[in-house]
Amino acid sequence: MERANLDWENLTFQYVKTDYHLEYYFKDGQWSDAKIVESDKIELSIAATALHYGQECFEGLKAFEQKDGTISIFRPDENAKRMINSAKKILMEPFPEEKFLEAVNEVVRLNRRFIPPYGSGASLYIRPLLLGTSGIVGVKPSHEYLFLVFVTPVGPYFKGGLKPIDLLVIEDIDRAAPFGTGDVKVGGNYAAGLRASKKAKDLGYNEVLYLDARHKKYIDESGPANFFGITKDNKYVTPKSSSILPSITNKSLQVIAKDMGMTVEQRPVDVEEIFDFKEAGCCGTAAVISPVKSITYRDRKVTYLEDDEVGDVCHNLYNHLRGIQLGTIEDKYGWNFKVPMD
Ligand SMILES: *Cc1c(COP(=O)(O)O)cnc(C)c1O
Repeated sequence: MERANLDWENLTFQYVKTDYHLEYYFKDGQWSDAKIVESDKIELSIAATALHYGQECFEGLKAFEQKDGTISIFRPDENAKRMINSAKKILMEPFPEEKFLEAVNEVVRLNRRFIPPYGSGASLYIRPLLLGTSGIVGVKPSHEYLFLVFVTPVGPYFKGGLKPIDLLVIEDIDRAAPFGTGDVKVGGNYAAGLRASKKAKDLGYNEVLYLDARHKKYIDESGPANFFGITKDNKYVTPKSSSILPSITNKSLQVIAKDMGMTVEQRPVDVEEIFDFKEAGCCGTAAVISPVKSITYRDRKVTYLEDDEVGDVCHNLYNHLRGIQLGTIEDKYGWNFKVPMD
């Protein structure tokens, strides 16, 4: 196998077309087998429910070349289950977990020349997508669905691994409501949040930090990532809320934090607590952890990091999770799923 001719060390998060993606169709009550497709265009009814009424959900996960040369995907079973929850919540046909695991293995195998080499800092991002495809103009769930999965090689979200970010608490735009769809991975949540992210960026911050929409008192999450704070007595504190997306990275970090001897608290986190944390971070598949440099809340600002010097706790958590993903630290919970390369 010859690797694709890419500048692996300098990849960003831009979409790069690879050789193949997979498509599965739900029709007459059942899912088809995989269709291997070279084109990265799809044909869709102009009346598809995905386009008009937001009947779509997606996932994001990564495959890594490990130190020993094998390829593994990080916790794909969790993504499969979360995608089933997302689908159910907006009345779409869920894509079965077994098929999901086959699909991610197969799409990685088919595009093996795009898997970044161990040590480059890059990885192969896997994007499963589920769309309601029936042409219906009335508002109702589709009866036909398309599940597709593609891959694209990506660099570390920030070059050099850990890049501290400045957050702005925005209160006049909500991403999700308490009984809405904030806890599932649907495109509509992102559409709702675009203005807030843009506002934060226009004002010189990296991302928005949302509060709960009802009370504007408790922390929800950052735009595309969960939030955690580290207390001065070394507790890992992360919000519990019905309107945040259960991040698999966060779930993994909680386990690692416990293993490091920390106490983990998942509970409503009053925004006033940000002034007492010693460190804070945003977490998700893309960057693993983005250490928080500062948070601005109304006319107050708390700064955790001087000169972009990352705190010890964020650093240790990051190194540990990355080490497991890359096969340099023992994977004692079986989080890495090896891709059979035949
Ligand atoms: C995907 C996502 C995350 C991160 O989840 P991971 O499973 O860790 O990648 C966090 N918040 C939102 C809103 C998301 O869509």
